[in-house]
Amino acid sequence: MVDYIIVGLGLAGIAFCETLEKHNKTFVVFDNASNASSLVAGGMYNPVILKRFTIAWNAQEQMETANPFYNALEQKLNLKLDYKIPVLRRFTSVEEQNLWFEASDRRELENFLSTKLIPNTNISILAPFGYGEVLHTGRVDTALLLKEYASYLEKKNVLYKQCFDYRLLQLYEILIYNKIQAKNIVFAEGFAMNQNPFFDYLPLDGTKGELLTIKAPKLKLEYILNASVFIIPLGNDLYKVGATYDWTDKTHTCTAAAKAEILDKLNTLICCPYELMDHEAGIRPTVKDRKPLVGIHPKHKNLYILNGLGTRGVILAPQVAKQLYAFIENRNTIDKEMDVKRYEKLFQK
Ligand SMILES: Cc1cc2nc3c(=O)[nH]c(=O)nc-3n(C[C@H](O)[C@H](O)[C@H](O)COP(=O)(O)OP(=O)(O)OC[C@H]3O[C@@H](n4cnc5c(N)ncnc54)[C@H](O)[C@@H]3O)c2cc1C
Repeated sequence: MVDYIIVGLGLAGIAFCETLEKHNKTFVVFDNASNASSLVAGGMYNPVILKRFTIAWNAQEQMETANPFYNALEQKLNLKLDYKIPVLRRFTSVEEQNLWFEASDRRELENFLSTKLIPNTNISILAPFGYGEVLHTGRVDTALLLKEYASYLEKKNVLYKQCFDYRLLQLYEILIYNKIQAKNIVFAEGFAMNQNPFFDYLPLDGTKGELLTIKAPKLKLEYILNASVFIIPLGNDLYKVGATYDWTDKTHTCTAAAKAEILDKLNTLICCPYELMDHEAGIRPTVKDRKPLVGIHPKHKNLYILNGLGTRGVILAPQVAKQLYAFIENRNTIDKEMDVKRYEKLFQK
């Protein structure tokens, strides 16, 4: 018998596995490696919402958990995952520069927005009004993390690379799934949660995003550029560019429209040659109220959910995993803004 079954090995599932290992709990994981949003993600973490110049919900606390979490993972897997590179916001006018400096004076933002105006010195970038720098930002190589974490679990013989079939789960005090017995199960399936008959009452909307990868040897960008699109350096002259937001299309298909949208924006930002290398699409597990979905099933007391990481999975995953674990094992409360209890009235079975 194991303490936990985990379904899904994206950022949420990995964060929960790590929390279990830290507390010497036993577990097995099911993952069918299908359309993980974590594989496509830009991997950026940034505590500031740059559209509105506000601090993201609970960002300070989330960063305090996320930083040591990724450091520990780097050591454990012997990999470089966390690149602490600045995000530079490109200004489009003097008015925007003024808005930035007003925002950087506000108490909640003073630790995150630099008050220095940075002039553009890169001849491949069009930025006559310069930049503002966001502090405490970076990028986690989520694709590498997913790949390496899966092999780590495979070596421990605890990963089932297959689709979890909900119909086979027998709901007793000790759960039974095929030959596996478990005390608890945590579902961390990202947008695929909508196929989960136990939790499909939750309002996981999903927001499709598409990203391009370009090769631009003359761009020489050493920071993440935030403008109408993000340009994220990956090394070896490769950059991720995007992403789009589509609230209606729920497929994982790459579209010509999204590609054109990203390239149009990119062409107003850079003036050096580039080659298109890749085009990816994924669905962010977004929720109507933009808060995660964490907690216990309304009826079955050993079924749990860890989802709704939306656009900020990198920074959120370690914190939500920690809270869910403390809730299950120590009966600590979950922040009510992310506790699935807030949607209990939608449950009608
Ligand atoms: C284009 C794009 C760009 C993004 N950029 C960023 C960014 O820069 N920074 C950031 O923080 N976030 C970003 N995100 C959001 C981020 O990707 C998500 O918040 C996060 O990855 C969600 O992780 P998850 O583990 O909940 O879900 P997923 O990563 O989707 O993982 C779910 C896993 O569950 C598995 N699964 C599902 N159902 C089953 C089943 N029945 N049986 C077995 N396995 C199953 C799937 O195969 C998958 O591996 C971006 C997303 C997109 C689409």
